[in-house]
Amino acid sequence: MNASAKPCPICGEPSDVLFKPFCSKRCTHIDLHRWFGETYRVETAEGPDDPSRVPDDED
Ligand SMILES: [Zn+2]
Repeated sequence: MNASAKPCPICGEPSDVLFKPFCSKRCTHIDLHRWFGETYRVETAEGPDDPSRVPDDED
């Protein structure tokens, strides 16, 4: 029906007019979580590899 409808960027299903550009409420949530996850990762990822904690027996 909707030939101009773009596929859901999350799962690739045809998007629903109610949730576009996603296909369902579930996919909108998945996208939100991804977005916030990225944000939080940036803020909390101060130093995933602490240079002062370099293992000695790494050869
Ligand atoms: Zn989807």
